[in-house]
Amino acid sequence: MTSQIKAGVVTGNDYLSLVQACKQGCYALPAVNVTGTNTVNAVLEAAAENKSDVIIQLSNGGAEFYAGKGFPDSAAAKVLGAVSAAHHVHLLAKYYGVCVVLHTDHANKKLIPWVEGMLGHGETYFKQHGRPLFSSHMIDLSEEPLEENVNECARLLKRMAAIDMSIEIELGCTGGEEDGVGSDDIDNARLYTQPEDVLYAYEVLAPLGNFSVAASFGNVHGVYAPGNVKLCPEILKNSQALVAEKKGLGANPLDLVFHGGSGSEKAKIHESLQYGVFKMNIDTDTQFAFAHGVGKYVKENEAAFFYQIDPESGKPYKKQYDPRTWLRLGEKALIERLSEAFIDLKSNGKSVAVR
Ligand SMILES: [Zn+2]
Repeated sequence: MTSQIKAGVVTGNDYLSLVQACKQGCYALPAVNVTGTNTVNAVLEAAAENKSDVIIQLSNGGAEFYAGKGFPDSAAAKVLGAVSAAHHVHLLAKYYGVCVVLHTDHANKKLIPWVEGMLGHGETYFKQHGRPLFSSHMIDLSEEPLEENVNECARLLKRMAAIDMSIEIELGCTGGEEDGVGSDDIDNARLYTQPEDVLYAYEVLAPLGNFSVAASFGNVHGVYAPGNVKLCPEILKNSQALVAEKKGLGANPLDLVFHGGSGSEKAKIHESLQYGVFKMNIDTDTQFAFAHGVGKYVKENEAAFFYQIDPESGKPYKKQYDPRTWLRLGEKALIERLSEAFIDLKSNGKSVAVR
């Protein structure tokens, strides 16, 4: 089985084939949060270098930053920043020769208007191009009662499926906090997704369109001191088994997403790949890598960040303070960290893209 998909942004059936290729090959794609063209281009370059397909995603905060922190209307910036990033990726991705999934990150109840705003743009784009702007949006109503969570996701999935999009939902609760979404004190049982909840979501959503599930198995957003996080990927196996049994389906019928991938033990990452995880979100570690790359350079070339010309030697520092010099080092450090993620997720060398 080798699906071959045209390089560039993948949506609709191509997206489904890519997810299947990941699950059947027991590998996953990193979903990297981006905030501007520097991070987008670095992710594309890293994917090309590692011959891996990749997922590029925006949080609402990342999208707002993409449009500009000074943009006069913050709600509009979250929508337009995401749309702008999507256009950038649609235009460039195919030249990097890999498949790119375009996604957005957590949207809680307050952020549903953000998703609906992006869907409006997606529908217009679909009319013009016959494909959507984004491959999939995530809705995270895990803080709401289960029925409300799933019903609202069903309403949005109908709208998404009409333009060949998928939805990612969250059941259970990822610990930690990301862009103000998520909570610090939740009781421990909720950190583990209940298989019955997954079965219920499957029954409501599967007839409407394609969906993936961000399942909780002790994963936490952010990076904490060792010992604070106890990952139990075998929890994912139970949800897969229950849905397969009750619905008479083959192994791993669910498309699972691993949130809070930064700082996770490699062995637990590998184990999760056996249970139908095709997407692992990574943000904290790539953020740190970018900052570290820039920080190291600033430390070594401190004077160039305070003087245009060296006050003693008269040496001009133009080359050193040119943003292309130090931003590039941030990009390179991100690429290096992401190269490690492709290996951890076993996606390196497995791109299904044809040029
Ligand atoms: Zn998350």
